[in-house]
Amino acid sequence: MTPSSCEFTGSTMTFFRNNKRFLRLLLVLLFIVTVVWFTWTLIRIKPFGSTVTFHMPITTKLCVSETADSELTLATLHSFLFLWKTKDVPCRRSYQTFNRFYSVVQTHGEILIESEKFREKVRHWLGDNETLFKQVFSQNITAIYNHYTHEETLFNALRSKRPVSQPEVSDLDYIEDIQGKTKADCDFCRYKEYTAHDLSGRLENRHAVTAANTFRYDRMHQLILSRGHHPLQWSKEQFMAMFELAHQWLLQSYKSEPSYIYPLIMWDVLPHGGASQVHPHLQVVLKSHRYPGNAESWRLAAQEYMREHNSNYFTDLISVYDSLGLSVRYKSSVAIATLTPKKDNEIVIICKDALLDFYSLLYYVIRAYVDDMKIYPFSMALTLPAMDQSTPDMPAFIRIITRGTASEIRSDISSLELFSFNNVASDPYKLVRQIKASIRKRDV
Ligand SMILES: [Zn+2]
Repeated sequence: MTPSSCEFTGSTMTFFRNNKRFLRLLLVLLFIVTVVWFTWTLIRIKPFGSTVTFHMPITTKLCVSETADSELTLATLHSFLFLWKTKDVPCRRSYQTFNRFYSVVQTHGEILIESEKFREKVRHWLGDNETLFKQVFSQNITAIYNHYTHEETLFNALRSKRPVSQPEVSDLDYIEDIQGKTKADCDFCRYKEYTAHDLSGRLENRHAVTAANTFRYDRMHQLILSRGHHPLQWSKEQFMAMFELAHQWLLQSYKSEPSYIYPLIMWDVLPHGGASQVHPHLQVVLKSHRYPGNAESWRLAAQEYMREHNSNYFTDLISVYDSLGLSVRYKSSVAIATLTPKKDNEIVIICKDALLDFYSLLYYVIRAYVDDMKIYPFSMALTLPAMDQSTPDMPAFIRIITRGTASEIRSDISSLELFSFNNVASDPYKLVRQIKASIRKRDV
């Protein structure tokens, strides 16, 4: 006869009544497994640490090069990687960490120029420098690939050595001209008459004011307008006020709609840098569900790195750049001249929180571009940790690049950058020296 379900349950209860010790043991085991699993899960969430692995003066000297700091270039990266892996234990460990992130391939591109007329032309492009001209026929190309973000950048050392050709109209004259012509009819200068605002009204401080983008990207999207019209002439106080207002708007928006937690702040300067208006303005976005675009790619990269190495992506990345001599520390923030830039002169600024040090460092980077390097258009995107503090492993980080010659009609971005690899002429080592000099000059 087939036993009924009641008979089955009854015999199970009898079994447990007769085996109380077994039941107790089972419960204890279950408790232990739960505690171990919970602790392991907590351990795996490694928060970003901005102070744990910084040892730049020692490792830079030991691991990167025996030469003076000023002699380091990207062209020598491949050769000193070999030296790096044979150094002492801390350097070897740092080299292993580098290899988690990057692969570096060095190749030579060879060409022939038979036409004497064209040889003369190329020689002239290189400032009639005979040493550079000889390098044209076998060009040193370094390809660097990030295994987690899947970004790849190709550097041609020769391109970075080309003298910068001067445009017919100087960039400064062009900028003065365009800012003068646009000022009289600027909508942002007369924001009360010519811009929309959120249903909750505007936020304002001494140097900046909010406006709603008339054709917004997304539900939570705001413009932060400087009160001054000039795209590049603003003080540190005016600069800080724009970002302070951006934070104020993000907080207000998050409180009004708590499911919107992922913030992004973007800034394009001058038409050649992609700005629709000459007047300085930040674009601020707050997203639900995930970070937008590139920021989400980096978050996923950090998550994958954590799974594979049980370590924080950003913390380890900074330690590698310390060892390479490609980082600049400013109080609690660090700037790195990335090896996989989107475009020329990319700096990534990283800090646990986007506070005064973080924005001061951004200000010094921009002033280095504009006042020291004389490159005026730039683009940047700033990612902040989630508003509900649900991303302890994510720091605040900025990616900022220069965008070429302000008066140039030809775009600096092409199908290469949009759809394939990045092609960059600037050398991160030269850039990092510029940022160090900017901090020394301006941090008074
Ligand atoms: Zn204006």
